[in-house]
Amino acid sequence: MFQIIVAEFKHETNTFSSQRTDFAAYRRSLYAVGDDLVSILTGTATEVGGMLDVLEGQPDVSLIPVVAANAIPAGPVAADVFEDIRGKLVDAIRVHGPIDGILLCLHGAMVTENSEDGEGDLLEAVRQAAGDGVWIMATLDLHANNTQKMSCCADVLINYDYYPHADMVDRGREVAQIMLRTLRGEIRPAMVCKSIPLILPPLSTNEAILRPYVDQMHAYEAADGVLTVSIAHGFLCADIHELGMTVVAVTDQDPERAGEIADELAAKLWQDRQRLKPENMTVDEALDEAERSAEGPVILADLTDNPGGGSPGDGTHILRAMISRKMKNAAVALVCDPESVAACVQAGVGQTVRLLLGGHIYPDLLGQPIECDAYVRLISDGRYRNRGPMSGGIVVDLQKSAVVLVDDIEVIVTTQVTQPYDVEIFHAHGIDPARKNILLLKSTNHFKAAFGPLAKRVLNVSVPGLLAQDPRSVSYINCRRPIYPLDDL
Ligand SMILES: [Zn+2]
Repeated sequence: MFQIIVAEFKHETNTFSSQRTDFAAYRRSLYAVGDDLVSILTGTATEVGGMLDVLEGQPDVSLIPVVAANAIPAGPVAADVFEDIRGKLVDAIRVHGPIDGILLCLHGAMVTENSEDGEGDLLEAVRQAAGDGVWIMATLDLHANNTQKMSCCADVLINYDYYPHADMVDRGREVAQIMLRTLRGEIRPAMVCKSIPLILPPLSTNEAILRPYVDQMHAYEAADGVLTVSIAHGFLCADIHELGMTVVAVTDQDPERAGEIADELAAKLWQDRQRLKPENMTVDEALDEAERSAEGPVILADLTDNPGGGSPGDGTHILRAMISRKMKNAAVALVCDPESVAACVQAGVGQTVRLLLGGHIYPDLLGQPIECDAYVRLISDGRYRNRGPMSGGIVVDLQKSAVVLVDDIEVIVTTQVTQPYDVEIFHAHGIDPARKNILLLKSTNHFKAAFGPLAKRVLNVSVPGLLAQDPRSVSYINCRRPIYPLDDL
């Protein structure tokens, strides 16, 4: 029997956020120990869901579920959380040994209170506890800053192929299959990682410039002996020394071929570096364009207050402009503002209440609170289940929430925050997104997976915020230099 450990420990850390990521933050999103990991994640469109799908029922596998922990992106992960998860993994390796394989679902941009390389430290501890003979393989987000320590301590790393990340479950299945084939002696993975001194702005893999890279990765993978190829885009809001892009190539016992693939892709990315930037609009450009559109819904993407990148989701720049233009038949997901929710609950459904909406956490950066009279249309428990394709099946808990009407703009106001990339956030709040002229979403690219089919147009709006869109606007302290585009390379 092959003894295989499965665990998840994820965080995308925005080092410019002052909101600490503590145990409470993990408990709000995901913190499951032992068999709870299996019962919560089986059948979900997540990496662990994919791993379980491949491994469960295999006659030669004994599965050891250890822990699954995930929290919404924000500031550094508290030291006690990191030590808890690392301790659980190291203990499991000792208690259940001998272990044959360790499958981890990580993010790759975790910064903790004590370390700028959370995943590197975790993998190092796992490697030390397990020894050199144990296969350690991990999935990573596409927005990972893959570090040297991570690639030294793991045998196989697989970043997502896509942004939006619609392939979480596929990458989970892929890594589990590589693990099984390796343990059964069919293959012997050899990995090469090549770092590129390049900070990429948030850019979808569906953009014309990046799509050919995904095709090229798949073409490499179709060849005999090539197991998996990934491009880590990096996360530009984690100010660490090894910030940047990385190409990862894994072959069957052929490090030379893996090196060639990594070199080819890295050279091509470097050649394209000046073209690797998104096309964004100012608020006024976007609202003019939205008002001109005959057909809805037009989606306004609030890129810089995206909670999926560690922003608090209470920014007001775009909503304020929409209110002042009295835009018609619009809906907003979301404004995270527990005080306003409490005021709505106190006033009650059907009442009009004076709110200071949003703008409480970083008013100087994300916009001041909006003073407005809001009609309370609905109070909700804020819970819904994602329909997918990203994280389908996972329950989101925004805690108590309210839908308020400001003129003809319906705003979902919440106690907890999430990146609103699933249409269910609207349905759960009694709003049919397909029938709106305008949807304002605090999301970058991810929403396109679910909202793409119903959107008539998508407008990317860049306002001042915590999730920078241009690396040159960020005050880096730790990031290695020289690096493009901070330096003229
Ligand atoms: Zn990502």
